[in-house]
Order: sequence, then C-alpha cells, then structure tokens
Amino acid sequence: MDNCIFCKIANKQIPSSIVYEDDNLLAFKDINPAAPVHLLVIPKQHVATLSECTEEHAEVLGKMLALVPRLAAEHGISVTRGADGEPSGGFKTLINSGPDGGQEVYHLHLHLYGGPRPWRGMR
Ligand code: 5GP
Ligand code: ZN
Repeated sequence: MDNCIFCKIANKQIPSSIVYEDDNLLAFKDINPAAPVHLLVIPKQHVATLSECTEEHAEVLGKMLALVPRLAAEHGISVTRGADGEPSGGFKTLINSGPDGGQEVYHLHLHLYGGPRPWRGMR
C-alpha cells in the first residue's frame, strides 16, 4: 500500500529497529515506547485493521500470536515461576482496532509490552 508507514517499514523503505523477520512477519521496536519493552508485530502483507480480517487471515494471525512467546523470551519478559510456584514477569499483548479502539496506524499490528512497571497510560 502506498503511503502506509508500516508497509514502508516492511519494505525497508524507512528504517526501524527490527527484532524478528520471516517471509510473512516483521517485528520491530515501537518508536515511542510505552513500556521498557514495546514491540510491534506486523504481517508483511498489508491488512488495514483486525476488523477487516476474515478466515483467510487466520494463518497469519495465528503466526503473529505464536511469535509472542519467542519475542518475550528474547526480551526477558516471559512469565516465570519461582520455587513457590508463584508467577512473575510477563507481558501484555494488544491490537487496537479503529478510532474507538485507539488505532492510529492502519496496518494491522500487535503490541507487545513488558518490563518493570509503571507503563505509560496502562494498568
Ligand atoms: P496504534 O495506536 O495504531 O495501535 O499504535 C501505533 C504505534 O505505532 C504507536 O505505538 C506508535 O508509537 C508506533 N509508530 C508509529 N509510527 C512509527 C514508526 O514510524 N516507527 C515505529 N517503529 N513505530 C511507529
Ligand atoms: Zn501497510
């Protein structure tokens, strides 16, 4: 898509801090991080919003979500359990959709937030 900033990032027309890439997906650091770790996972193929996804997108949507544990491990934000079995660490995943959902960039993306709190604007 012409004029889509995340297509330009996927095509390497504008720079980003890429943390993962394969044939279908790209993950990179958010330019304005709201948490100590703030990554974005996108499909390389343009889809404007989750609201426009159909069964056709199930595979790439699954791949986006399945990438999260790997990225979390690589960035030190996995859920871990102490000797007492209590969970610690962890992360938040978020897909904003449409104006009421807070979406600003109309190329589907999954936010991955983690690291020590507080995080900007989030519980
Ligand atoms: P949304 O509100 O659409 O869910 O989130 C868009 C996110 O994209 C924001 O967190 C914003 O900081 C990030 N973003 C916008 N433009 C760029 C850019 O050019 N490069 C990178 N790395 N992140 C961007
Ligand atoms: Zn795009």
